[in-house]
Amino acid sequence: GEAQVEQAVASAHRAFRSGVWSGLRPADRERILLRFAEVVEAHAEELAQLETLNQGKSIHIARAIEVGASVEYMRYMAGWATKLEGQTLDVSIAVPPGTRYNASTRREPVGVVAGIVPWNFPLMIAIWKIVPALAAGCTIVIKPADETPLTALRLAELAIEAGIPAGVLNVLVGRGASAGAALVAHPQVSKVSFTGSTAVGKQIGASALQNMTRFSLELGGKNPMLLLPDADLDKAVGGALLGGLLNQGQVCAAASRIYVHRSRHDAYVEALGAAVKGMSIGAGMDPNAQINPLVSRKQQASVLGHLDKARAQGARVVTGGAAPALPGFFVEPTVLAGVDHGMAAAREEIFGPVLSVLAYDSVEEALQLVNDSQYGLAASLWTNDLTQAMDLIPRIEAGTVWVNSHVVLDPNMPFGGYKQSGIGREFGRGAVEAFTETKSVCIAY
Ligand code: NAD
Repeated sequence: GEAQVEQAVASAHRAFRSGVWSGLRPADRERILLRFAEVVEAHAEELAQLETLNQGKSIHIARAIEVGASVEYMRYMAGWATKLEGQTLDVSIAVPPGTRYNASTRREPVGVVAGIVPWNFPLMIAIWKIVPALAAGCTIVIKPADETPLTALRLAELAIEAGIPAGVLNVLVGRGASAGAALVAHPQVSKVSFTGSTAVGKQIGASALQNMTRFSLELGGKNPMLLLPDADLDKAVGGALLGGLLNQGQVCAAASRIYVHRSRHDAYVEALGAAVKGMSIGAGMDPNAQINPLVSRKQQASVLGHLDKARAQGARVVTGGAAPALPGFFVEPTVLAGVDHGMAAAREEIFGPVLSVLAYDSVEEALQLVNDSQYGLAASLWTNDLTQAMDLIPRIEAGTVWVNSHVVLDPNMPFGGYKQSGIGREFGRGAVEAFTETKSVCIAY
């Protein structure tokens, strides 16, 4: 509620103003953040199991990605605390005559950050926001998604154990439309870092602008895989399983529309259908299950609604297409063929375990289809033809282009969207700099 939003922002604001964090030597901030990574790592199994209970995902993914990859990310970002820098500037100011100037820039923490996190990777995306913001010297209020508050709350307890001073990291649970909206509109919040849907992202941007609050948005996607005529079909089947069905397709960068040259379309559909049909379905804690429940009944209903629409528009269900007779919010992993580029299955984000396969005749036509989307988060090319790959990479409208892989991320590789997939980039130097202001300093002598 609003009273708690007020309390959390006041706590973060007090901590920021007091200098208890921003006033530390960068090396001390780095050391404490590295200790934070160590404490998270020491609680890896507990956090992984909590995340599977929280979200429904595979325990393997919770261990390897939510915790494992996040700990590496924490260490990478902790290091930026000691590596921020400004510039010295040669200036030509001519007045008053005879005066000389020394000009430089410095990077200063932006202030109180609001981090708003979705439900698909609750721990990891919270960490994506917390650690670069803290490395820059900011304080933060994190709001996890309504559906998945548990790991962010535990993370806050571990932050205290690691020695992060009180008030520097605040976790606020609550509904998006009330707590989230009040947080974004709060005048003492200087920067909003949001990950979630495009529709909510637009509301957040509009609200933040009222106070000139800085914002970055990581939003939805409808990410293509483009199999060039020479593509290795086996590799591209494996790529679609990882790139499209990881976390039941509840991944913003998930591959969801696969363009295959008409000469190889039927062979690919058959191979992909056979691989997907063989996937085992079960609870997140079942180590043998490859497909786990979706996050909520609402998300299950939404994905099943997309499948109904695809069938009604003429798509052919190769495998899957329904909810299995199991307790839990499952949707069978699904391959749709005969999908036309104009159908909703090729244009709308489904955020579920659904792969649509489309045929093309020429590479130029395929490129046009790839780019004909309101989104531009990520794309992948499947080919060993270096010349063609190098020609296409700059022409694809997406924040990341993978070649012969899909959905692999690294802390040092900027991540974010073109077009309606967002504004700004996470990861890399830019992620930390996005939590700073640049100040010019000009000294006359
Ligand atoms: P969502 O936009 O509904 O919610 C995201 C977060 O915003 C939640 O914490 C929610 O409580 C909060 N929220 C909702 N309304 C709000 C408001 N008016 N003001 C402030 N906060 C508000 O999205 P979701 O359903 O949680 O996640 C699924 C969507 O997120 C998908 O569209 C997916 O593509 C996108 N997503 C994108 C990325 C990325 O990195 N680009 C990552 C994960 C998810």
